[in-house]
Amino acid sequence: MKSLNKKTIKDIDVKDKKILARLDFNVPIVDGKITDDKRIRESLPTLNYLLDNGAAVIACSHFGRPKGEFNPKFSLAPIAKRLSELLGKTVILAADVIGDDAKSKAAALKSGEIMLLENVRFHKEEEKNDADFSKELAGMADIYVNDAFGTSHRAHASTAGVADHLPAVCGFLIQKEIDIMGNALENPKRPFVVILGGAKVSDKIGVIENLIDKVDTIIIGGGMAYTFMKAQGYSIGDSICEDDKLEFALELMKKAKDNNTNFLIPVDNKAGDEYKPDCNFITVKSNSIPDGYSGYDIGPETEEKFTAAIKGAGTVIWNGPVGVSEWENFAAGTKAVAKAIADSGAISIIGGGDSAAAIENLGFADKMTHISTGGGASLEFLEGLELPGIAALDDDN
Ligand code: AMP
Repeated sequence: MKSLNKKTIKDIDVKDKKILARLDFNVPIVDGKITDDKRIRESLPTLNYLLDNGAAVIACSHFGRPKGEFNPKFSLAPIAKRLSELLGKTVILAADVIGDDAKSKAAALKSGEIMLLENVRFHKEEEKNDADFSKELAGMADIYVNDAFGTSHRAHASTAGVADHLPAVCGFLIQKEIDIMGNALENPKRPFVVILGGAKVSDKIGVIENLIDKVDTIIIGGGMAYTFMKAQGYSIGDSICEDDKLEFALELMKKAKDNNTNFLIPVDNKAGDEYKPDCNFITVKSNSIPDGYSGYDIGPETEEKFTAAIKGAGTVIWNGPVGVSEWENFAAGTKAVAKAIADSGAISIIGGGDSAAAIENLGFADKMTHISTGGGASLEFLEGLELPGIAALDDDN
């Protein structure tokens, strides 16, 4: 991993400067109404800091997938409105991204004022990280601030390309993500426990490979556990399984053994007869799931084993529910894991996406040290990959 020591907004003088601030305003919107404004609220510390310190802020973000052309359905207008309410000041919305309206509004913007460009994905050049488009975007500002951790694993014009043309620093959100996750990977308080769940092994291969010789315990649950069970010759009934990953699963278990890393997979399961929330289900040992049944959650014995392994941990990283936690009948395992982490007193880091949603829905969010704001980005970070949106920022030497 390259340097994570990046300049932040506190390392530069922002007074009377025009700041192009890339934020993650990709919020859920239904019928023109924002149903969860968390991502907007998370941008406030950085935006308030910039505005309070006399910067003029040109904010930008993507929203949805407008496929590179203007589409009013994907306008940032509802976001400008909500941001304005949260900041308690007018957010001027530009009618375009790099057009005349954006440029004239940016030129007229005064210190302490904020404007929002339209959806950067209205231009196909954004996702292509087009050099000319990046230059046009950068041309409106003096300094670039990236605080969109959730898109920092993408090398797009507004997340990476603009940094070729401007001094580039991170905001508080990215700083927090890289401080907490970087420190956990480089200098973890031990025992270091990682819990991986979710549907597919293939999504988490990189993470397992990167962490297997760094952690003390790997706990595998969720749909991905069944590939490991089948690899050991267990009968897994109709449980989800990636047959092309069986050999890889065996190699990993061997590697864990050679490294003296505890490698825990479920010993029992709740298995249902149909992929439905109200299906009939039984509790069975991991090596005897009958045909016609699929494992949808860890069983009570596994809950105890996982809880015991989490108790006393110094650092816990969790990514992916250990069962189909959206369904009440199969949420107990994920709840038990969340509770065990909360009770452990460990430094706890929750990957974004489904695990973050599960932790929030189950009511444990405020017990965690850090819930990452990026699903894909946090996975790539844990894989040890360099995130283009972070790599592009200036090093703090
Ligand atoms: P991921 O996005 O990889 O974190 O996966 C989350 C998804 O995995 C959730 O939608 C869960 O419903 C699903 N999942 C977890 N456990 C299982 C399981 N045993 N069988 C099928 N899907 C599962």
